[in-house]
Amino acid sequence: MEWKGVLHRYFDHLPIEKRKNIVSLNEGNTPLIRANSIEEKLEDDLEVYLKYEGANPTCSFKDRGMTVAVSKAVERGEKAVICASTGNTSASAAAFAARSGLEAIVVIPEGKIAFGKLSQAMMHGARVVQIRGNFDEALELVLEISENYPVTLVNSLNPNRIEGQKTASFEISDFLGRAPDYHLLPVGNAGNITAYWKGYKEYYESGETERLPRMTGFQAAGASPIVNGEKVENPETVATAIRIGNPASWEKAENARDESGGMIGKATDEELVDAYRVLADTEGVFCEPASAASVAGLLKMDGTGYFDQGSVLTCTLTGHGLKDPDIAIDSSPEPKTVGVDVDEVLEVADI
Ligand SMILES: *Cc1c(COP(=O)(O)O)cnc(C)c1O
Repeated sequence: MEWKGVLHRYFDHLPIEKRKNIVSLNEGNTPLIRANSIEEKLEDDLEVYLKYEGANPTCSFKDRGMTVAVSKAVERGEKAVICASTGNTSASAAAFAARSGLEAIVVIPEGKIAFGKLSQAMMHGARVVQIRGNFDEALELVLEISENYPVTLVNSLNPNRIEGQKTASFEISDFLGRAPDYHLLPVGNAGNITAYWKGYKEYYESGETERLPRMTGFQAAGASPIVNGEKVENPETVATAIRIGNPASWEKAENARDESGGMIGKATDEELVDAYRVLADTEGVFCEPASAASVAGLLKMDGTGYFDQGSVLTCTLTGHGLKDPDIAIDSSPEPKTVGVDVDEVLEVADI
């Protein structure tokens, strides 16, 4: 059957009234890839799958929520959407707004947006506003604006975003024929962990699945308010997508963790970059640094007794590596340049 996006596929689980109002880029249906090399490296005996959300149309999971948020805005006759963003929300909002004819206004922290993401917002014709402040401040601004002006907030505080994002857990359960025992993912503003947990519970309650995974989230060590139990005023990490000091869905993330018997931990930038490189180098999967938090967490918790032996794990890789080429290049050895000469090429190529 032709794939026409998450709203068509999971229409009965989602809040859109009429199919004709759907604004879709055929998002979702992303690969669930067995991580054979990583499994071999582990001390624990685990079956590990990567949910590669970089394969969405704007190259991050944000498209799953944005199709619902923008379709709903169209259904209500709204004219403009606004968001604060560390990059991927703005890229997705800009694309879906372009497709629907709505205006998109995106407010971003100056100089802290990965290049690929900024280029997307600009290409799709969003009104891009950079502030001399961080994501948390940008979110406060757009909240205030959306309360007082006729623009719809499409950050994950908009419940339609969470509704759409829960479809990733439906897909995982449909592809595996069961829910996993553990689900690992990065935590930034904490909308996605909230959404996955909601989706897993809905499938369980409707009898589609027979178990619930332990929700296992990871923040960057320099931006780990949930782990520390207090806001971080100046969050810092190479993983710009999770550079957030005061997550909007903080309590919901704690609920997901506690109800599921899971955990939320943290990974240092070094651990994030290591996992990012292991994924690219040994699995052939290129994700952005923030996305690697799920696998950094897996490598960290391996052998500690947290995972039951023989368990099935799914790790969300939230966005595509090409979003942030600067980090890819900066963390790799520089290519050598030689003359137009067979011997010199052979030497460098080590043939
Ligand atoms: C948005 C985003 C996150 C964080 O998701 P939250 O829902 O804010 O926790 C992680 N990784 C990438 C690539 C993202 O775009």
